[in-house]
Amino acid sequence: MGEIFYLGVCVSLAPAVEVEGLSKTFRGKCALNRVKLTAKRGEMLALVGSSGSGKSTLLRNINGLQTAESGTVRILGATLQGDGRIYANVRELRSHIGFIFQQFNLVRRLTAIENVLAGRLAAMGNWRSSLRIFTPEEKLQALAALDRVGILDQAYKRASLLSGGQQQRVAIARCLVQGAQIILADEPIASLDPESARKIMELLDDLNRDGITTLVSLHQVQLVRRYFPRAIALRDGEVKFDGATRDLDDAALGFIYDQAADELIVRGHAFA
Ligand code: ADP
Ligand code: MG
Repeated sequence: MGEIFYLGVCVSLAPAVEVEGLSKTFRGKCALNRVKLTAKRGEMLALVGSSGSGKSTLLRNINGLQTAESGTVRILGATLQGDGRIYANVRELRSHIGFIFQQFNLVRRLTAIENVLAGRLAAMGNWRSSLRIFTPEEKLQALAALDRVGILDQAYKRASLLSGGQQQRVAIARCLVQGAQIILADEPIASLDPESARKIMELLDDLNRDGITTLVSLHQVQLVRRYFPRAIALRDGEVKFDGATRDLDDAALGFIYDQAADELIVRGHAFA
């Protein structure tokens, strides 16, 4: 757990994300089985596992889009869900979490800047958010975020006209404008060509260096090794590995992925 000294007093900082004993079933089939994980503030953590291993379910539970039957999720020290119940402060807690999807999840008919400004809606008063009235400062902030992700020149283009990589950049800019302290990214590069995928990984790495705690689910083992100091691997909804990615050797991968390991390693080479 991180600690800071303030006026000579040691203050403990709660972890960014704490998951304990999280179990979730879909129609009797187990998707998560007593999952436990802790992401310290500022960590960059990969979530790996073959298709159906529970990665998306876990990420959705961490930001309270879904509830599990048992277990708890705490965000920055506050409980978001516990034993199947979403806590009342979920909106406030969720405002700290940016979510990035494989399919970008932008409003395609809106421009890039309008999509980025959507990151402000949760923090705005009701009347302003319902009319989508943004202040000049908010617009400048959105433009700065688009500049930060390298697509300022696309600010007034409709999202539907942007490439996949550009759309993912808009989604990341939206997290910046939201002021997210935690980014959960569910296979953010799975729909991108290798070069765009690399750029998105560089960007996530860059934001993490600014202190944003980052949890990313992904398949490409080489990218996991290159960008992430630590990985958590799921298999059939259970955590089978939690440790330094340098220990995620081929033997460990074989155990985690079973027969699918070869396919993952070969696929990963395309990005190496
Ligand atoms: P991953 O993201 O690793 O591919 P998921 O979290 O999507 O895995 O899925 C884990 C398991 O839960 C799978 O068996 C999947 O079929 C099941 N599952 C996930 N979401 C649903 C849902 N909404 N309804 C029914 N089954 C689901
Ligand atoms: Mg998934």
